[in-house]
Amino acid sequence: GTPLAVLAAIARVARSGAFVKDGAHLEALSVVDTVVFDKTGTLTTGNPAVVGIRSTGLPEDELLRLAAGAELYSEHPLGRAIVAEARARGVALPAVADFEYRPGLGVTAVVEGATVAAGGASLVPDAPAADGVATAVHVAVAGSYAGTILLADPVRPSARAAVAELHRRGLRTLMITGDQEGPARAVADELGIGEVRAGLLPEKKLAAIDAERAAGHRLAMVGDGVNDAPALARADVGIAMGSGTDIARDSADVVLISSDPADLVRTVQVARRARRIVL
Ligand code: ADP
Ligand code: MG
Repeated sequence: GTPLAVLAAIARVARSGAFVKDGAHLEALSVVDTVVFDKTGTLTTGNPAVVGIRSTGLPEDELLRLAAGAELYSEHPLGRAIVAEARARGVALPAVADFEYRPGLGVTAVVEGATVAAGGASLVPDAPAADGVATAVHVAVAGSYAGTILLADPVRPSARAAVAELHRRGLRTLMITGDQEGPARAVADELGIGEVRAGLLPEKKLAAIDAERAAGHRLAMVGDGVNDAPALARADVGIAMGSGTDIARDSADVVLISSDPADLVRTVQVARRARRIVL
């Protein structure tokens, strides 16, 4: 049976805001040496806002309308922010067909007969190189680059203290993100995370987890997205944000119910204390 101390620890963790699916996961968590974080929606609020629109020719609101059309059925925070900005500006949203989400890349859809793509540089290859701290969503209409929507996503208020606390407890932190190098660095610097791997497609996130484990590290991976699900399943302990996608929560061993990084630190602490009691 499960030792009483482990059951008590599961209950204690539940009171501090995390759901642990099995006592074995707490034991695994007690011995991790590295915490790997996804960025968007995990270290950041996942509520980005549009901070700029660069159009090559179309009026700004028209570029926004087409992008919002492509993103109309998107569950991704970037897509939701683009749709919200269009609504806030009173832009009438178009009719949309054939929506397709390509995790880590972006979306495509047919908007009023034209294929519109919205996403990163791999999806819109003729987009100009983006630098700076904002995340760039490039837009192509009928195969031609039409402009870029810039978004900024604030970090979660407790994230900096949580990272510092993990370091104080001797844990190493690492960020793996599908976002571009510029915004990834900016968030990592703000939070004190030293190591960053940016521009990773979902399978590259998985490869990063495999490489860390092959190097002998024991990992907790914290994420929220469809793109994080394989990495969450592969890490020694997968931890999903409560605000995350269904597939992230299903793939994880632990769910942070209110998506608060402080609850992650408490969960690690309880897991380590339970281990000392059991062993
Ligand atoms: P993260 O790993 O930081 O959570 P994602 O893998 O979800 O990021 O997204 C990585 C990149 O893919 C984004 O920075 C963006 O360029 C692009 N992208 C993903 N989904 C969308 C979308 N719905 N609309 C536009 N771009 C997207
Ligand atoms: Mg994410």
